[in-house]
Amino acid sequence: MAKRDYYEVLGVEKGASADDIKKVYRKLALKYHPDKNPGDKVAEEKFKELSEAYEVLSDPQKRAAFDEYGHAAFDPRARAAGRGAPGGGGFHDPFEIFREVFGNSGGIFSELFGEGRAADPTAPARGADLRFDLQITLEEAVLGAEKELNLTRPETCDQCHGRGAEAGSALKPCVTCGGRGQVETSRGIFRIAQTCPRCEGAGRVIEKPCRACRGSGRKDKSSKVKIRIPAGVDTGTRLRSMGNGEGGLRGGPSGDLYVILHVREHEIFRREDDDLLCDVPISFVQAALGAEIEVPTLSGRASIRIPAGTQPGTVFRLKGKGVKNLQGLGYGDLLVRVALEVPTHLSSAQRGKLEEFAALCDNNSHPQAKSFFERAKEFFK
Ligand SMILES: [Zn+2]
Ligand SMILES: [Zn+2]
Repeated sequence: MAKRDYYEVLGVEKGASADDIKKVYRKLALKYHPDKNPGDKVAEEKFKELSEAYEVLSDPQKRAAFDEYGHAAFDPRARAAGRGAPGGGGFHDPFEIFREVFGNSGGIFSELFGEGRAADPTAPARGADLRFDLQITLEEAVLGAEKELNLTRPETCDQCHGRGAEAGSALKPCVTCGGRGQVETSRGIFRIAQTCPRCEGAGRVIEKPCRACRGSGRKDKSSKVKIRIPAGVDTGTRLRSMGNGEGGLRGGPSGDLYVILHVREHEIFRREDDDLLCDVPISFVQAALGAEIEVPTLSGRASIRIPAGTQPGTVFRLKGKGVKNLQGLGYGDLLVRVALEVPTHLSSAQRGKLEEFAALCDNNSHPQAKSFFERAKEFFK
């Protein structure tokens, strides 16, 4: 089936503002959220389609790529080896996007859908997602890298597999609430139902808590997590490492680990989107006579020919020596900007030659200066 245009999915005009796109997404995502439409496959598909459209159109870079190339901008076949995009290729989890837009508060669904649904403390529970901020060098961002993170996180207890109970010990009904999970108290004429403080609403308590985790089902553990940083990432790129978040409980899956990248400043190169910029000082003699100069690139050295009469600030473009585009749209360029270095400590011999040179210069040797002072003369009249 042909993929629908993202603007059509959200029902907005091509020039719609970021605010409008968010507003429409909020409205439609609430309407089609699977929690509101249990078992409805059409709604679920619609929810996924919405989040994908929103992910692209809410990100100025991705939106521009989509405007220019359409769906091909995100086609995995166009991406080298299909692993080039953050988050393991393609789009983020629709629920993750939903959480991002609506905020991460736990009570979000009861608030939004107007129902106070208490989580069942005996049911399997997914572990929370974790965030890890990682500093990387520009070289790592441009060329890609493998990194090992040291994480301390609650992992599912391997003794009780997250149940929190000793092997062979059962759950027994909570005596405080008689297994209902709620206790009622009277306040004046009102009777108020509250979550049972002993079993926290589960209605059952652990007979013999697991000794390894003291009944919590999880233990803090330090471990090393390997992540692959694809070439072309930038500050703010978010990588998802599936299942490397906090451990799940009672057989529930682990959460995910989100690695947020921060690229350190480089001594030589600055980055502008997929291009790298660098300033190279040359002498005014090289600029006047022309020269072959060596310039650094992130993958080694390159040489460029500076023609005679090169002015300061002239930019030379080295095609394809920039950063690999994350969406698979080739490589950026390396822009070398020439700076003129004026000598500061002249020997008397050097000074003599320059004075000789100056004496040989006439009005036409420096046409820019000539035309400037002619214009300035008018100005001072
Ligand atoms: Zn345990
Ligand atoms: Zn209880």
